[in-house]
Amino acid sequence: MKYIASWSGGKDSTASIILAHENNEPLDLIIFSEVMFDKSISGELPEHIDFIKNKCIPLFESWGYKTKILHSDRTYKDCFFHIVNRSKKKERIGKYKGFVMSGHCDVQRDCKLRPIANFWKSFNEEYTQYIGIAIDEPVRIDRVVRTTNQISLLQKYGYTEQMAFELCKEYDLLSPIYDFAPRGGCWFCPNARDCELRHLRNNHRDLWDKLLELEETPNLIGNIWNILTQTSIHDKEEQFFWEDNQINLFDYARSLETTI
Ligand code: SF4
Repeated sequence: MKYIASWSGGKDSTASIILAHENNEPLDLIIFSEVMFDKSISGELPEHIDFIKNKCIPLFESWGYKTKILHSDRTYKDCFFHIVNRSKKKERIGKYKGFVMSGHCDVQRDCKLRPIANFWKSFNEEYTQYIGIAIDEPVRIDRVVRTTNQISLLQKYGYTEQMAFELCKEYDLLSPIYDFAPRGGCWFCPNARDCELRHLRNNHRDLWDKLLELEETPNLIGNIWNILTQTSIHDKEEQFFWEDNQINLFDYARSLETTI
């Protein structure tokens, strides 16, 4: 029997690995599926992938755990520039698929889950999978309990999400994403909240500009960043620009007051 942890770098799956380490639970391999934006740029935020590769993996390996980063043969840009050649809506044929629809994310299926599915398909030994689900997620825990080869170490040791957060903090293994957002995800995700978009624009302008550029591509079916809410990255750019400038005007007005 091999014991394999599915790990995202988030607090729950990281806390599961810490619990395995603290309690001498068997752990043969840790797998991480990295979504790629294109062949060379990660779909993970730069600080998160740096945390994964340069902080966690060396530590886990020093604890005696093997790690494996899985990749799909498809990238976000492959999905984006996929030309639709079959559709009930004739006007779509010959166009690029464009931005993913939240709730129907092709990237999740093709770039995140497919390499994991291929990994399990090619794994020829009996295995138990550690899944990072806390005791205060009853619906997800119930699903794990009903699956014969999955175990939640957070459940076994009675950990809530908050306790998982504290445990990671204690080991200095909290991803930097928690400094500005409650969750992780691809930097181009249509589910990103304003705090994540703002972080991207302020700290990774090169990636933000790539989204602005993609929105200008002609012949897109999904022609704006969030098709469901009809929100474009250009809208967000304008919103953030004015918010920043209002703050600046406010500061300027205050500085005038103090000089008077
Ligand atoms: S984080 Fe968002 S874009 Fe990335 S795979 Fe998940 S749903 Fe898709």
